[in-house]
Amino acid sequence: MITEILKGLSITLDYFFKPKVTENWPAEPHKVSPRFRGRHFLARYSGGQEKCVACYLCQQVCPAKAITIESEERPDGTRYPTKYEINMIRCIFCGYCQDACPEDAIILGNTLEFPTRTRKEMIYSKEMLLALAPEGHNGKQPPQADTHCPHAYQKPQKDSQVSDNIAKQPTERKEKK
Ligand code: SF4
Ligand code: SF4
Repeated sequence: MITEILKGLSITLDYFFKPKVTENWPAEPHKVSPRFRGRHFLARYSGGQEKCVACYLCQQVCPAKAITIESEERPDGTRYPTKYEINMIRCIFCGYCQDACPEDAIILGNTLEFPTRTRKEMIYSKEMLLALAPEGHNGKQPPQADTHCPHAYQKPQKDSQVSDNIAKQPTERKEKK
């Protein structure tokens, strides 16, 4: 009996001095794998132009029918989305949209937590998705960084940073008028 108690206490004592494996959530964010598929964002080229060319591939491939796109043509003949919406309630975060995109425009970032109080707030507009792009995907990187290796630039964002980005969301392109 005493032996078993001492054995149990020794295990407790052993783990007491080992590094903690539990996370201090929500005080500290979850640690996710670099390959984690979280909240999406839309990327820009280093010149600031949206990467999305409104080819509709992501909408077609989406198994949850979560993406809605409407598009127009610019005077120079290129296409761009006038509307790009993702319904995050429907989304199953499979990553098919990112895989299908020929422009590396739609990317699943590593933001895990984005709760809202209403369903409406889970419908992400194009402006919101563009504003969510982290440094390196928002058109501020040097041209040589525009590679087809999107994960290299992903960094977790704090909620306050995301709010700032959305507040500073860009106005619609001039070509639309
Ligand atoms: S991650 Fe999957 S379910 Fe979500 S929008 Fe992309 S293709 Fe659709
Ligand atoms: S995000 Fe990519 S796949 Fe989707 S419409 Fe734009 S360019 Fe095409």
